[in-house]
Amino acid sequence: MNCLERVDLKNFSPPELEGFIATFGKERYRSTQILRWLYQKGVCSFDEMTNLSKRFREQLGQVSRISNLNPIRIEEAKDRTNKFLFELEDGNRIESVLIPDKSRLTLCVSTQVGCGLGCRFCLTGKMGLKRNLSVSEIVNQILAAKEHLHDKSSITNIVLMGMGEPLANYTNTLKAIELMAHPDGFCFSSRRITLSTAGLLPELKKLLNEKIRFRLALSLNASDEETRSHLMPINRRHPMKEVLKVLRNFPLKRRARITFEYVLLEGVNDSTGDAKRLIQLLKGIPSKINLIPLNEAPEIPFKKPTEERVREFQEILMRAGLTAIVRASKGTDISAACGQLQGKV
Ligand code: SAH
Ligand code: SF4
Repeated sequence: MNCLERVDLKNFSPPELEGFIATFGKERYRSTQILRWLYQKGVCSFDEMTNLSKRFREQLGQVSRISNLNPIRIEEAKDRTNKFLFELEDGNRIESVLIPDKSRLTLCVSTQVGCGLGCRFCLTGKMGLKRNLSVSEIVNQILAAKEHLHDKSSITNIVLMGMGEPLANYTNTLKAIELMAHPDGFCFSSRRITLSTAGLLPELKKLLNEKIRFRLALSLNASDEETRSHLMPINRRHPMKEVLKVLRNFPLKRRARITFEYVLLEGVNDSTGDAKRLIQLLKGIPSKINLIPLNEAPEIPFKKPTEERVREFQEILMRAGLTAIVRASKGTDISAACGQLQGKV
């Protein structure tokens, strides 16, 4: 069997791995041991799994493999943000960003090569969609960042806000999150995993029937349907009002909130009227707003508002009792900030 025909163990969710191990007639705890080797110790070969018998390791190696992602380039910005560029087995390229902020170390991972939703302010959107990432390609970004950090520090938060629309790659993204949250996997608390979506209605409705192991963020970016449709073409198919209706019924843990991202574009969505409409729209949803002044690029036909306008916008929201945070751009000098990921060398 050639290498790529063998199943990649990192494409299995924890219950799937258990099922796979059972086909060898092995006990359940063997699957726990393998999960820990893969995601806590980060081993790259079966030989390193020393608490499994040599015979079982050989059997595993005959039908399965352990994939890996090695960065082909790591750049460091002045603010110590690191951007990883990976080449996938088929030659496609993706990026992840590691962002230090006070006591936090957040890894921003990609879920697709490119993105098919074409938001007009986003460089990833300009690439179009190449393909979905597999579960292993998503989790290997975390393992590669951990490897880069050695034991110097540990990742505290994961955000699915890199290249791609996570809910457009629903099954693989949810399996990858299962591995992130599983006690024998990466063991991240579900409060420390955030999935950001442009708002796909069918998938959001589907989420209502799942056990949710993450925080949800919606990229809102406008206060009326017309402006949102202009900026985010997906709004024509899945209007904001309907998306917000689903979010109103979203099962939230006590004190949990939904994050709303709002990229501020000068003269487009940054007026006092916009701020007031935003307050009305979010009524009844426990929310937190992240205001992101646009990260500009020559290919993007918008400008970011002045700092003063950003503050005014924030203050209107805060006076209405909303939590609104202005997100400082990180890693702009190496094109690692929101909406700047293109997988280019
Ligand atoms: N597709 C998902 C997740 C990836 S985009 C989504 O849209 O939510 C992550 C965030 O980057 C989104 O909130 C998006 O609105 C923001 N973003 C995209 N382009 C940007 C830009 N040029 N400047 C600032 N933020 C941007
Ligand atoms: Fe895709 Fe998100 Fe960029 Fe829109 S903002 S094009 S959904 S990655």
